[in-house]
Amino acid sequence: MRKHQFLVIGLGRFGTAVATTLYQLGHEVVAIDEHEENVQRVMNHVTHVAMLDATDERALSALGIQDFDVVIVAIGADVKANILTTVAAKSAGAKYVVSKAVDDMTRRVLEKVGADLVVRPEHDMGVRLARKLVRPHSFDDIDLGTDYAIAEVTATGRIEGTLKDLNLTNRFGVQVIALKTGSQVRISPKADDRVVAHDTLVVVGTLESVERLISYTE
Ligand code: ADP
Repeated sequence: MRKHQFLVIGLGRFGTAVATTLYQLGHEVVAIDEHEENVQRVMNHVTHVAMLDATDERALSALGIQDFDVVIVAIGADVKANILTTVAAKSAGAKYVVSKAVDDMTRRVLEKVGADLVVRPEHDMGVRLARKLVRPHSFDDIDLGTDYAIAEVTATGRIEGTLKDLNLTNRFGVQVIALKTGSQVRISPKADDRVVAHDTLVVVGTLESVERLISYTE
């Protein structure tokens, strides 16, 4: 496994969890915060720590921010510091910036100022939990990022025929990666494989497209 280099900015609950987990998984993690007690708390659980104000672009350049594979801006409550840090990270040459947003408005601003990926942990986790509670069979827990899902969809009378005729890729934007009929499983099914009611389709696609297919079958 190639070791990746991560810079985690902001050591609240979210940033600490991200930083220490990446380190436990064997990657290089530099963790920064403007408060000494936060830096000291994670010091023995990451590769390096630094205490600095991350809105300061020059300080980020001096850290060699352009050499990290991913920079995670995990500042939540202080929206201004979060946005300024995201801007500073991009201007200082960060390759890929993931920023945490506390609400939808902040998400939009972060996307506008150049964040490559914006996560909303509370919101995203809420959506996931809700889906899990009502669809225990879907396995959208497989981590494909926040926008994609793999799900099991049970075919109803509305989804019957050959895969070619069903044309799910064009109609819903999903790919069928496996078909289950009773205990028989067909991996990478072919266009002329036939789906009948009660079969299980294992599909991959954007959350939206998977949702659309599930709603259609219900
Ligand atoms: P969480 O909700 O995940 O606990 P918080 O927003 O409470 O996140 O924590 C954010 C962390 O980011 C805090 O530890 C805070 O000290 C740190 N932080 C805030 N602003 C800056 C900044 N300009 N530079 C560096 N660290 C910062």
